Amino acid sequence: MSRSKCPHCGLALGNYLYADACPHCGEELKHNTAPLVTTPPPDPNRPVSWPVRLYRRITKLVAS
Ligand SMILES: [Zn+2]
Repeated sequence: MSRSKCPHCGLALGNYLYADACPHCGEELKHNTAPLVTTPPPDPNRPVSWPVRLYRRITKLVAS
């Protein structure tokens, strides 16, 4: 996703379409700096950490 205008000041980005920051107002262009790769899903084989186990126990207690 790319925008042709700066969301902060409305400047037409033109050559700065893929810049990290607006050349006019200097604000970060989030649509360019946001990571393109989404975080991979958690490994199902990974051992469950104790806070998660504790949380599940609590939710189970609440549900029952
Ligand atoms: Zn700007």
